[in-house]
Amino acid sequence: MSMKRKIVIVMFGVMLYCIISVIIGIGESNNIKSEYKEGSEEIENVDIKEKSNESLLQNIKVLDDWRLILVNHNIMLTEDYEVKLSNIDSTRQFDSRAIDELNQMIKDMKKDGISNIWVQSAYRSIEYQKELFDNQVQKYINQGKTKEEAEKLTLQIINKPGTSEHNLGLAVDLNYVNYEFEYTKAFKWLQENAENYGFILRYKREKEDITKVDYEPWHWRYVGVENAKKMNELDMCLEEYIDYLTNSVIK
Ligand SMILES: [Zn+2]
Repeated sequence: MSMKRKIVIVMFGVMLYCIISVIIGIGESNNIKSEYKEGSEEIENVDIKEKSNESLLQNIKVLDDWRLILVNHNIMLTEDYEVKLSNIDSTRQFDSRAIDELNQMIKDMKKDGISNIWVQSAYRSIEYQKELFDNQVQKYINQGKTKEEAEKLTLQIINKPGTSEHNLGLAVDLNYVNYEFEYTKAFKWLQENAENYGFILRYKREKEDITKVDYEPWHWRYVGVENAKKMNELDMCLEEYIDYLTNSVIK
């Protein structure tokens, strides 16, 4: 082969290599762009939720305090969650470790002249919650809704089994589970005194963005006296407080 021919072949090879590289390069940069786009959408839609879920779960492990067990739209109790219960009355039950404080609080309210106070709803088993949920879904299906529509509508009125604080046995709904409760003497008393018995107003109006639960003046959660006082002092909901405590522990 002549020298001239060799040079032509080598040059042709180099050109071919350049052309292929350019084509592949463009393809790759497109891939990077679309991956980046998908990634950034994920950050908006999923990441924050899952990240906070993960870190909260980790936080609870660090704290190891049964009074601060967190269940919410993200963190579900598993069906094997066991709690020792004591009776509030013939039909209602509460966590045995905190029932004395609950009883004492109701007793002291009455002593302070608030006779119109009662526990409407306390512990609910996950199984019972599931029954309530499934019955409601079936009702909607019977009305002609699809399963998906029925579940969506049910979620507006009943918590998914395992995501209710009532499944923990550490929360009570007082009186008529009604927004009028906010304007009663009982509510005012609770706002001033519930922390002394270890109870907090769990779903505050100004914390809806974090709790993802609408304001509920009737729903009071036991967290223990020192936690309740600290949370009120710092104006934090349970999610914020767990995060705060964990950071203090680690620092
Ligand atoms: Zn409740």
